Amino acid sequence: MWRDPDKINKWTIADASDLYGVARWGADYFSIDEAGDLVVTPFGRDGAARISLRKIVSEIEERGMAMPAILRIENILGSQIKLLHDTFRSVIKQTGYKGEFRGVFPIKVNQQEQVVEAIAQFGKEYHHGLEAGSKPELIAAISMLPSRDCCLICNGYKDEEFIDLGLYATKMGYQCFFVVEVPGEAELILERAKRMNVRPMLGLRVRLSTKADGQWAESGGEGSVFGLSMGQVVDVLDRLKALDMMDCLRLLHYHIGSQIPNIADIRAGAMEASRIYEELVKEGARMGYLDLGGGLAVDYDGSNTNDQSSRNYSVEEYCYDIVESIMGILDKNGIAHPTIVTESGRMTVAYYSMLLFNVLDVSSFVPSRIPDKLPRIAGDLLGNLMSAYEMVSPKTLQECCNDALYYRNQALQMFKHGNISLRERAMAENIVRHILIKIARTAATMKQVPKDVFKIEEQLYDIYYGNFSLFQSLPDMWAINQIFPVMPIHRLNEAPTHPAIISDITCDCDGKIDNFPESSGNRRTIMLHELKENEEYYLGVFLVGAYQETLGDLHNLFGDTNIVSIHVNEDGSYQFIRDIEGDSVSDVLSYVEYDINDMKQRLKKMAEAAIADGIITVRERKQILDGFAEGLRGYTYFEKE
Ligand SMILES: *Cc1c(COP(=O)(O)O)cnc(C)c1O
Repeated sequence: MWRDPDKINKWTIADASDLYGVARWGADYFSIDEAGDLVVTPFGRDGAARISLRKIVSEIEERGMAMPAILRIENILGSQIKLLHDTFRSVIKQTGYKGEFRGVFPIKVNQQEQVVEAIAQFGKEYHHGLEAGSKPELIAAISMLPSRDCCLICNGYKDEEFIDLGLYATKMGYQCFFVVEVPGEAELILERAKRMNVRPMLGLRVRLSTKADGQWAESGGEGSVFGLSMGQVVDVLDRLKALDMMDCLRLLHYHIGSQIPNIADIRAGAMEASRIYEELVKEGARMGYLDLGGGLAVDYDGSNTNDQSSRNYSVEEYCYDIVESIMGILDKNGIAHPTIVTESGRMTVAYYSMLLFNVLDVSSFVPSRIPDKLPRIAGDLLGNLMSAYEMVSPKTLQECCNDALYYRNQALQMFKHGNISLRERAMAENIVRHILIKIARTAATMKQVPKDVFKIEEQLYDIYYGNFSLFQSLPDMWAINQIFPVMPIHRLNEAPTHPAIISDITCDCDGKIDNFPESSGNRRTIMLHELKENEEYYLGVFLVGAYQETLGDLHNLFGDTNIVSIHVNEDGSYQFIRDIEGDSVSDVLSYVEYDINDMKQRLKKMAEAAIADGIITVRERKQILDGFAEGLRGYTYFEKE
């Protein structure tokens, strides 16, 4: 609304693609079609499959499922697994590396049965395995393992039961690695294995001195709570030697953190680990596997930098740097190349799921028109404001900024002291807004603008109320300020004219999205379209497949959203393969221990008491109780009739 009108008139979908950074964060899975809809291309932008998200939303709603919904495009899981394996394979071939690559999916990144099952299926031809960090994850993993050729990695603290479960898998011929995380664990694993008469495959998780930048850096470095120090490694080695079990030590593991934005840290970690690997071989351990953990980052903000929401490398560079780092160290002393294992979780699942929601309302920054005749009020406040408004021009921009803010404060003071009325204060504030908008409009036509003007622009936004809960669906956005790509899924052939922030429907002032990729402008706002009468406006938040689903919580008792999965065929046809209805109101109430029948009984009593007092009729009682029953069955989010 205060942008360059020229640009608005000549708007193209290329402008929309650039504004929202689709090509930068979309990793070839997203683009915009001629109709201005955002489309998913699970087989890459050149593939025949182009699925309009606007169309999918209609089909979800026609099936009776309301927004918000999580949409999962199953094939993207397959595409990401293929990308990882194909890239490692090609790098291994080009460099003459003598070992193989084995990927594993760490279940904690997305534990949903459907996700783990799809990964197991898509990963089968690559022997893609699973990683578990707890008993429930281990049982889930074992039940899903597609073949005996893939790795099953057991991390986390292990009690007897955990170890026994893994040993059963070993007995059945699966490649189950027990990664020793704390010193005492090795002893327990050996003891349980002896009892069961199996030789376990052991791994050591080491604490590297290498630390990575980024949000999760704490997992690495010598201060990390996970893994063995070098002294503890030596203790375990001595113990294994004494028991003549050095042939059981097969794997070295480290994990310096998730979402490592800087390739230099990845290289440094691989090199340090390779040196430790070499030493373990020299000590006489059988070895054969080097497990580099997770960390392969997702470029959420599309900036391709070492910012914490991004990464300064491609998947190819990641694979190259790892393979070359390992070879560089091990070749010096002729140590055989190990099988490389990575536990990429985020990279595997982030792209395949998105949150879709409708916008319920907008609170506009734009005030109503200034009336032709203004009342004369104390100190001629409105008159002064109008002069400031008339005065706005490229030459006086800085001065007008100062005036507007000065008079805004004056209006507030005068109101507090009882010198102007509520209506007069409202009028003054409206004119201030008009001044700020005129300043921003003027600035849009200038090459150089004073710094303060940028600060003003940051304040000029509408609030779009989205039908979702940040706490349930995007917890990392709230907890650690993570950036996710956000954009409208349709109308992309029209210029978006409103700078906005997006609020959710929880009653928590933290429930908002006001942090966007740098490229979108001032980072605080996103450009959105004007709402149309009788037409829904839909937004999507993308790359939410990793970590968000189970970390989400019931803040304000907004429950799980509806979930829809589709499977896309190469020719572009697709099927809805699964839908899971989100929580109903009675579901979330029972999570916090309410007894639904008790509640109904109490409501009945209240209604009977109201009848007895003559406040409602028997007929009204039925209506009221039916209303509550209906409410309990309903979706926790805003529903259209
Ligand atoms: C969380 C975790 C991972 C997954 O990391 P990503 O960065 O999501 O790939 C892998 N390994 C271990 C041990 C983890 O704790």
